[in-house]
Amino acid sequence: MCNLKIHEYQSKKLLNEFGVPVPKSTIATDKETLLENFRDFQSKAVLKVQVHAGGRGKAGGVKLVDNSQDAVEFADKFFGNLFQTFQTGDESVVVNKILVEEASSIVSEMYLALLVDGSNQSINIIASPEGGTDIEEVASKNPEKIFSLPVNTILGPTDFHVREILDFLNLDKTLFAQLNKIIRGLYKLYLDKDCSLIEINPLILNDNNEIIALDAKITFDEDALFRNKDISELRDLSQENEVEIKAAELGIKYVQLKGSVGCIVNGAGLAMATMDVIQSAGLSPANFLDIGGGADEDKVSKAMSAVLSDDNVKIVLVNLFGGILRCDVAARGFILALKDSDGTPPKLIIRMQGTNSEEGKRILSNTKYNISFAENLDQISQILSSEE
Ligand code: GDP
Ligand code: MN
Repeated sequence: MCNLKIHEYQSKKLLNEFGVPVPKSTIATDKETLLENFRDFQSKAVLKVQVHAGGRGKAGGVKLVDNSQDAVEFADKFFGNLFQTFQTGDESVVVNKILVEEASSIVSEMYLALLVDGSNQSINIIASPEGGTDIEEVASKNPEKIFSLPVNTILGPTDFHVREILDFLNLDKTLFAQLNKIIRGLYKLYLDKDCSLIEINPLILNDNNEIIALDAKITFDEDALFRNKDISELRDLSQENEVEIKAAELGIKYVQLKGSVGCIVNGAGLAMATMDVIQSAGLSPANFLDIGGGADEDKVSKAMSAVLSDDNVKIVLVNLFGGILRCDVAARGFILALKDSDGTPPKLIIRMQGTNSEEGKRILSNTKYNISFAENLDQISQILSSEE
């Protein structure tokens, strides 16, 4: 399952629609609008870069500003530039939008999330009184501070659940109605829009005794986007990996990874097994790639081009089971892509079984490329080990 990510400001708009309180805010795409918006907040607001990654606060991308000069400085520093947080890793993402938000006075920062827990086949509500910080850290250092509550699929969240969470978050009983509305709103949003994750970190109590979602991260199940056109439109391609976007357009499942062995496989199960073989040979996959059904010469060639376009790739490993996609057709597709690519072609390890596999191998053998053929996963593993 792949997930569509959206921005914080988009998530907050959805929260608002489902009755979950969020601070007043406006979104700016350039410095002038940012300044106008900033003045509308009486020149005191929180400025927040909008990128598909958390950890912005620690990286300086969230700032309480109380004068125009600092607002200008923030805009100049971030608009149009690349931004990195501990969550983006080595890659960085471009900042095209900045949220200008009414500043909140925080009494406590909590954590609230909804996600599907496969082990109990239900949506779980996760809550912690330790919000604002990295929840993974809380989970590893203070696991007792995290409460995970499976919701009965037929009943949905009940008053009893809400009271339990209220208690765990050390909130006063008088706040029941507020939390109740929030949890029910989040649950309805989760179901109505086919979310895969709703994470509010922090959920705050402000000095006016109001519970408010100060940050919001929502992701959606891509397989359900066909029935959520309004959500598909929230996609921001500037935040996504270019090769992944191109692959998605072709109907190829591709996930960029960080290793040196590019993989071209048909079938998600075989793709996973192939990645395991690479790992066990002491190397790392550069990507996950499942060509998918109905592949032809063109699609195979584009899959190969996608893998070759990754500069980290030193070896390309093809593991194909020829069925409807004949091995000779695949072989021609590979050659097409190799001819098109500039630079020295990497070493190829090819295993092709099934329809016309001998013909496929013959076509590839008659080329100048550095190819080792394998008959099974063991042989792939041996060849990879000797490359290490
Ligand atoms: P993240 O770092 O990407 O998760 O961004 P957040 O939106 O969670 O902001 C990070 C931190 O900035 C929060 O945990 C708060 O401590 C702080 N913060 C954000 N907005 C406000 C605000 O309106 N007032 C105050 N006092 N702090 C804020
Ligand atoms: Mn946050």
